[in-house]
Amino acid sequence: MRYRRIVAKFGTSLLTAGSDRLDLEAMSRLVGQVVRLRAQGCHVVVVSSGAQAAGRHRLRGRLTGGHVLSRQAIASVGQSHLMQSWDELFDWHDTVVAQVLLTRRDLSDRLGYLNARNTLRDLLESGAVPIVNENDAVALDAVLATRIGENDSLSAYVANLIDADLLVMLTDVDGLYDSDPHTNAAAKLISRVERIDAEIEATAGGTRGAGTGGMVTKLRAAQIATQAGVDVIVTNGDAPDALVAAAAGEERGTFFPSGADRLESRKRWILGSINSEG
Ligand code: GLU
Repeated sequence: MRYRRIVAKFGTSLLTAGSDRLDLEAMSRLVGQVVRLRAQGCHVVVVSSGAQAAGRHRLRGRLTGGHVLSRQAIASVGQSHLMQSWDELFDWHDTVVAQVLLTRRDLSDRLGYLNARNTLRDLLESGAVPIVNENDAVALDAVLATRIGENDSLSAYVANLIDADLLVMLTDVDGLYDSDPHTNAAAKLISRVERIDAEIEATAGGTRGAGTGGMVTKLRAAQIATQAGVDVIVTNGDAPDALVAAAAGEERGTFFPSGADRLESRKRWILGSINSEG
């Protein structure tokens, strides 16, 4: 494998296969790929969305008296179901998983950052697969200021945190296009982005589907990660070997080569927390 330390971000629309519930078959294809990478000596951290979608589906018709749950509560229900699904699927491969829930506040605090980093490194050394999500129960709405916002940015912070050499954002489109491929049949895939500038940002479309991230958030994440010395790929997760191909260095989808030489850890922490502190 070309890359050894990889963050793999799975979006909601991929994990639900576009439906209103977790799709265990789609998840198990991703699990198979993570297991293959680990067998080749790669360290992989998964960033998994899907808690809210899973919670919404799980709660359907089960609440009494027309009670409407907050998104935090829905995500809490879904997160345990999401982890249970990951746990069972990885267990088929005799692989242990660990749940890591993070908020921006945890990462903008130096001690929190170091603790999260140590925990993730420890887990990777032990052979477990860390599965990260935002801690929606405390991060969503009510304390809006502490939200990372969506898992695209979270995955970039995590890549920074573990000194990853690759961040793969698996999604339900082939990558970044020069116009919206859903409305323009002539839209062309942009296979490589050397620099994220205003022109590239203008080509990124808005949010669609079940997830909260669109291309705009992926570009922001790519910017954070490449600045921290991490290569980034945005590619279609429907291809059964998408993650393995990305780790092997195949430039499918849109590739963002890392800009800077890897910054020293404390500088990367400052870079990663700039937006939250103003
Ligand atoms: N934390 C959210 C969830 O698991 C996902 C946020 C996102 O889709 O980026 O539902």
